Amino acid sequence: MIEPDAFSAATVFERHKRIVVHNDTHSAARQSSNVTHELAHGLLLHPPAPALDTATGCRAWNADHEDEANWLTGELLVTREMALAVARGKVARDDAMDRLGVSQQMLQWRINATGAAQRAARENGSSR
Ligand SMILES: [Zn+2]
Repeated sequence: MIEPDAFSAATVFERHKRIVVHNDTHSAARQSSNVTHELAHGLLLHPPAPALDTATGCRAWNADHEDEANWLTGELLVTREMALAVARGKVARDDAMDRLGVSQQMLQWRINATGAAQRAARENGSSR
């Protein structure tokens, strides 16, 4: 059975070149996240690795590399300043998503990951 949503993106290595292949049927925001994730692997100089574990036939996974790439993807797509501006209510979520080309999930993840929500809440509490 073909699952059109199953594949997001991957980096294919051809000697010293990295070629990003991605699923262009995903939303623009998801494609942006998928491609940026692959670029993050490149910026972090993660070495090529087999896509499948030959022993199990399952997808090979380096959790540390994926965590690093996920973190850098968020850093590249949503600045701390924008996460804080949204958390403070200075920029509407829809405006931020439109301006940055990111999904609601990515924006919320960055607001949480940067501590912007807690910071805005502290500021709000201390001004009363
Ligand atoms: Zn990855």
